[in-house]
Amino acid sequence: MQFQPVFHKQSPVLIAGPCSAETEEQVLAAAHHLAAQHIDLFRAGIWKPRTRPGVFEGVGAPGLKWLRRVKEETGLRVTTEVANAQHVYECLKYGVDVLWVGARTTVNPFSVQEIADALEGTDIPVLVKNPVNPDYKLWVGAIERLYKAGLRRIAAVHRGFSTYDDSKYRNVPRWQMPIDLMQEFPGLEVICDISHICGRRDILAETAQKAYDLNFDGLMVEVHPTPDDAWSDAAQQITPTQFGEMTGSLIRRAITTDDPDYLFKIENFRQQIDELDEEIIHLIARRMHLVREIGYVKKDKNVAILQPERWRALAEACRRRADKNELSREFTNLFLEAIHQEGIEQQERIMNDGIQETAAPLNVRWSDG
Ligand code: PEP
Ligand code: MN
Repeated sequence: MQFQPVFHKQSPVLIAGPCSAETEEQVLAAAHHLAAQHIDLFRAGIWKPRTRPGVFEGVGAPGLKWLRRVKEETGLRVTTEVANAQHVYECLKYGVDVLWVGARTTVNPFSVQEIADALEGTDIPVLVKNPVNPDYKLWVGAIERLYKAGLRRIAAVHRGFSTYDDSKYRNVPRWQMPIDLMQEFPGLEVICDISHICGRRDILAETAQKAYDLNFDGLMVEVHPTPDDAWSDAAQQITPTQFGEMTGSLIRRAITTDDPDYLFKIENFRQQIDELDEEIIHLIARRMHLVREIGYVKKDKNVAILQPERWRALAEACRRRADKNELSREFTNLFLEAIHQEGIEQQERIMNDGIQETAAPLNVRWSDG
């Protein structure tokens, strides 16, 4: 796929605005403050896909007139979320400049296809958020559906992934996934929605800096004139002043430099890392060898593969050690899960002897095909 830029910008793109358009006054107040800070795109949700019913679900089509007023009064480009063909038609009618596909829509190929069909023949830019679940192919698939409808100005938005585990984040970032996307599609702009990743104000700045350090093309941030009164996502919204302070304090680092001192140090560290990676793979292979030995013993004595008590104790000991060594809980859990899964699959192959299992490799990105 050959994309065209949505933003055409060297410095990081800033997309900001309230989670939801609530009233005309609130939308205009946010927009005027943000226009003064020279953001690139004003966001406000008109149709809100809420996880549970019975809460504010957006003002609907009347909010489009407010966005039109934002454009007229501030000159800002505006964007809102679309989840079906009707939303698309309404947005096109009111001159919304950029559309975004939300995380709860990207998961559903039927909805994405409906949106793509409604957009065929237009060349409006579309931002595609990652699906709520960490399914790389589903994210790429949504982008492909829009591309096949003839759209070229497409960008991706990383907003983190739902989790049932304890985490400091509302949606865990799993940074490797947007990094993979950047590597697979170098021409695709990738924006980081720090608000939905964090879910809280106090870690927005550090997460924004992280996004800059990972060379994201920009940020999407929820900004509200009076965040505590917001009708949705109050805990993660910040005031326009806080937004200005945060973006002003971020450090933009160069992608690389040819400074010889830098190159020498980096080369040295990279060599050590390469050696360690090799060692890690050997260690894991040795571990799996032992796992297979246990598999033969279990098979011989007709004992079940899964030993919950043993696994709980082992995982707990690993977590304690990982904590002491400054490894994050997210990483440790993912690592343990992967190790356990591979061990089970190796023993299953032994138990089922002869029956050739086609176990997927560990780093597979699961897909429904
Ligand atoms: C939003 O941007 O307000 C929103 C609903 O986001 P997401 O689809 O990422 O949950
Ligand atoms: Mn929101």
